[in-house]
Amino acid sequence: MRKKIIAGNWKMNMVKAEAITLTQGIANFALSTDLPEALTIVVSPVYPYLDLVNNHIPSVNDCHLYLSAQDCSAHEKGAHTGEVSPIMLKDIGCHYVILGHSERRAQHQESADLLAQKVGLALDSGLQIIFCCGEQLDERKAGNQNEIVIDQIKGSLGELSTDDWANIVIAYEPVWAIGTGETASPEQANDMHKAIRSFVADHLDQRAADQLSILYGGSVKPANAADLFACSDIDGALIGGASLKTDSFTAITQAMIEQIANV
Ligand code: PEP
Repeated sequence: MRKKIIAGNWKMNMVKAEAITLTQGIANFALSTDLPEALTIVVSPVYPYLDLVNNHIPSVNDCHLYLSAQDCSAHEKGAHTGEVSPIMLKDIGCHYVILGHSERRAQHQESADLLAQKVGLALDSGLQIIFCCGEQLDERKAGNQNEIVIDQIKGSLGELSTDDWANIVIAYEPVWAIGTGETASPEQANDMHKAIRSFVADHLDQRAADQLSILYGGSVKPANAADLFACSDIDGALIGGASLKTDSFTAITQAMIEQIANV
């Protein structure tokens, strides 16, 4: 079975005490639940709390809980004020880094080339990448969504080897569904996931495509998680708003646990 991933993107939310409470809530859930082997749970706090949150992640293997950053620099070190190197992220215990989130593309003008540099350096640093892609509403209305998303993937991941792809997770996040309460239907999401998988099969090989975890992101909540996770090509979720509360994040995780048990 492909790796199933429930990842919370905390964005620029929560102060220290809240971050600790949320991490402890998720850790308690993880430790008190019989988690399937295939499940990985990811939390992504802001840079200043990465180390702190890491210290509240139980250091036992069956906890399945991993730390992610929300971005990283394209540079190893040096005169880059305000930036954080993926080498440093790895050094303090991150397993993952989210790259290409639509908020970074829009608010920080992150281009495909810049993202390709970040991806390359993050892989060299030993991190796994959660690479976000997704179309705008007008692009979907025009029926161009597949072309847009595949171009984003080609533009930043097109030069990677099969070995590199073993450390890539794709998060398909239609921009019109992020933080809007509007979710892509399970069919819309699954169709896109199939298109992404088929691109990887053509571009690399079928094995890499079969092993690739593709997450859906965009207003995932306990009420819609089960229907999304029941789709053949949806391997989990990248969750914004609903990842900020223990109850909703663990309810979504529980939906994935039940889906895995049903397969
Ligand atoms: C996100 O920002 O990655 C996201 C999916 O947010 P939300 O779940 O709030 O739509």
